[in-house]
Amino acid sequence: MPFPDYHLHTHHSTDSDESLDNIIKQAVSNGIDEICITDHHDIDFPMKYSYEEGVMAFQLDFDAYSREIDEIKTKLPQGFTLKKGVELGVMPSTVKKAAEYAKEHSDLDFLICSTHIVDGYDPYYSEYYEGKSPVQAFGRYFECILETVKGFTDFDVYGHLDYIVRYGDYKDYVFELKDYYEIFEELLKTIISAGGGIEVNTGSLYKNLSYPHPHKEILKLYHDLGGEIITVGSDAHFSKYVGYGFDKARELLLECGFKAYATFVKRKPKFYDII
Ligand SMILES: [Zn+2]
Ligand SMILES: [Zn+2]
Repeated sequence: MPFPDYHLHTHHSTDSDESLDNIIKQAVSNGIDEICITDHHDIDFPMKYSYEEGVMAFQLDFDAYSREIDEIKTKLPQGFTLKKGVELGVMPSTVKKAAEYAKEHSDLDFLICSTHIVDGYDPYYSEYYEGKSPVQAFGRYFECILETVKGFTDFDVYGHLDYIVRYGDYKDYVFELKDYYEIFEELLKTIISAGGGIEVNTGSLYKNLSYPHPHKEILKLYHDLGGEIITVGSDAHFSKYVGYGFDKARELLLECGFKAYATFVKRKPKFYDII
């Protein structure tokens, strides 16, 4: 049985037009019996990256989103489970608002915390990298995650920890944990001591990386420091990517020593053996 897909986007996210129906159909045809939708909500997303003039992007209409999920839950295929999550975009400057958001949405099953913005820049665009060496550009992203988790830990997993590596277009540089070891050690220890997890995100495999997020060395360090909470997600914004590359995720998790993965109900983890 493939892993439940715990990172999925629909038309409720600014950057997706996909229907919930299509996502469910694709999951069923892939033999996946549980999914968690995690549409985007990025707190104080920079207006300069708005898709529509004057309208802040990545602001989830939670009521409409929640209503659609609740409605569709009444007509799911037999044996199929649908969970309600959010991928919350947080910056060091918005940790207080993130804590309020988590508190106000206590009916969620699952909350991913993600870093999408660094010092006001979206690392998806090349301007972030101008004048920075790869270690400076990537390192600043990882520091931002560390600063975020120092102020906010009420999430279930941290999303795509090394997401920036898929966008930094440095031909002669290959990511190695040793270049950022201290940051990751502190970061992962902080997450673990707060009872948080991390995800294996296979979205990188259909972007331009040969491995899922995070890099094996990061995953191994999380394991070796005592981390046990792992979810697996495709980060699909189109139904065709639901469950993408989950065989690779399984291989990687087993290689790193993990024995179990987690699903969530009302923000509480349940563990299942990785077979
Ligand atoms: Zn994300
Ligand atoms: Zn996502």
